Amino acid sequence: MADGRLQAPRGTFDVLPDEGGRRLRLAHLAEELLHGAGYGYFESPVIEDTELFARGVGEATDIVQKEMFTFEDKAGRSLTLRPENTAGVCRAYVEHGMHKQAQPVKLWYWGPFFRHEAPQAGRYRQFTQLGAEALGSDDPSLDAEVILLLDEFLARAGVREVRLRLSSLGTRDTRRAYLDELRAHLRSREHELSEEVRGRIEANPLRAFDSDHAGTQAVMTDAPRLLDKLEKDDAEHFAAVRALLDDAGLEYEVDTTLVRGLDYYTRTVFEFESDRLGAQRGVGGGGRYDGLVEELGGPPTPAIGWAAGVERILLAADAPEEPEDGAVFVAVAKPESGREAFRLVRELRRQGVRAELEQAGRSVKGQFKHADRIGARAVVIVGDGLEVKDMRSGEQRPAADAAEVVRLVGA
Ligand code: AMP
Repeated sequence: MADGRLQAPRGTFDVLPDEGGRRLRLAHLAEELLHGAGYGYFESPVIEDTELFARGVGEATDIVQKEMFTFEDKAGRSLTLRPENTAGVCRAYVEHGMHKQAQPVKLWYWGPFFRHEAPQAGRYRQFTQLGAEALGSDDPSLDAEVILLLDEFLARAGVREVRLRLSSLGTRDTRRAYLDELRAHLRSREHELSEEVRGRIEANPLRAFDSDHAGTQAVMTDAPRLLDKLEKDDAEHFAAVRALLDDAGLEYEVDTTLVRGLDYYTRTVFEFESDRLGAQRGVGGGGRYDGLVEELGGPPTPAIGWAAGVERILLAADAPEEPEDGAVFVAVAKPESGREAFRLVRELRRQGVRAELEQAGRSVKGQFKHADRIGARAVVIVGDGLEVKDMRSGEQRPAADAAEVVRLVGA
């Protein structure tokens, strides 16, 4: 900036303490929910070999073609700031021989991810994802389990107006054959389509399903649907997943046009959206990636998982209703009391009382003003003796020692 002050880079942001508290509570909620379902916490590096994403996410995807922060290290190796985590999870699964452990291996993670996208509300260049992955089984109950866990997480996080879209992509071969068939259908009636859809027949024929152009809509009413093209066992798998979700009472919309932006998905795919958000309404999604571990040099390993955006969850969630209880403020009535006050604040903290100390040389009057400002629930005045003032009732009482202070303020 012209005045010499620096700002965080475009598309990134600082997390200030109010927001920081909400984020940490969300992380605790994730730990509680996912640990409770047998998922172990996992971390991998923020940088990976670029080749991992080229192979794992797919050369042709937007992410790999346009959105990666890629650089060379001093030895000339190409490294990339991770744009997503499924490829990294599979790399780690193979690298650490996790296929030899009891299957399925269940992992969850939380951390920063990087995509060079045009920043807007809910879309950043550094963002935080939380995710869960289950590797080593194609049991439909895993598909249902991960979907229900994400639903439960969003509900507990206070995310409102949530909708779930669900589909199955079958195998890669099914999908490839289907897309060819869809392109042929669009080409056979090209003159009826909007110009935009016509221009994307090769690159993204599925886009035609989202068009609000009347001519295009007419063409799409009798377009082939991927779900009708599934192989028998893929169709049975999808039916089994749906039956479990129905049993659980989860509402969803089967959306045959749902295709996620990553190449590796097979069978089940899903996306949670919130109408509370604007254009960037996806809060989290995922699916099966039964071929990815093998693609990265491991044994054939079916797997499923999801990732959810922490910033979008917080945007779509109700703010917590009850503000946190204030701290106890330890005031210093005269300079000679400083050491005693320091000892007292440490003792209070040891006893589990959230406590703060006067540390800016204010007058006693100034200290009370400060205590008010930080929302302290009580002030302990350390002077010739100890006095405890309850900031809500205004009542002030003497205390003989630290133990009595703790009793008076309540741990
Ligand atoms: P994806 O890996 O693209 O399926 O993304 C999973 C979730 O991560 C999305 O539903 C969003 O909530 C979040 N997400 C993806 N990209 C961004 C971004 N650029 N900024 C913020 N959140 C994002």
